[in-house]
Amino acid sequence: MSDDETVEEYLFKIVIIGDSAVGKSNLLSRFARNEFNAHSKATIGVEFQTQSVEIDGKEVKAQIWDTAGQERFRAVTSAYYRGAFGALLVYDISRRATFDNVARWLDELNSHSDTTVAKMLVGNKCDLENTREVSLDEGKSLAESEGLFFIETSALDSTNVGTAFEIVIREIYNNVSRKVL
Ligand code: GDP
Repeated sequence: MSDDETVEEYLFKIVIIGDSAVGKSNLLSRFARNEFNAHSKATIGVEFQTQSVEIDGKEVKAQIWDTAGQERFRAVTSAYYRGAFGALLVYDISRRATFDNVARWLDELNSHSDTTVAKMLVGNKCDLENTREVSLDEGKSLAESEGLFFIETSALDSTNVGTAFEIVIREIYNNVSRKVL
């Protein structure tokens, strides 16, 4: 490689999983494009967006994959998980069933990936305080017992969306640089 060629030092795949309509696509569009769509209809097929974050003066790129509706058919396949360094497991704080299903998503993730994958439990739609069905403490304790990072977000009003992705990206970066050093 010649000296003047730019070396892309880091590019990590991150997957977003969780039940249908918990806000996965909107978390991604809020993070990557600062957009929210109140009437988003998922197109079928996998979609990803690439987003850069600066860590320790280095450009770290995340290729973030969205199930784009496939989870409706329980058809999130091993190809989706392949090569992932990080995962956001999303539930909707205003729908308990989506929280109850986190265990299933975690099992699926664990069966397709190794233990070094950085995992973040995300309680989305925290703007819906009036219709909350899952408390902050319940989210925290589940995350603690499963060894996951935890955060509540709102793709609608932007609360913690950047932070959620950045924590995962930083953790991946730290894991990888520890291995390299
Ligand atoms: P996905 O199926 O998990 O990708 O979910 P979507 O991103 O398509 O969102 C499903 C629905 O929830 C859409 O009507 C969104 O507008 C809405 N939604 C997504 N995130 C939030 C949020 O943070 N707060 C609120 N109130 N609604 C949200």
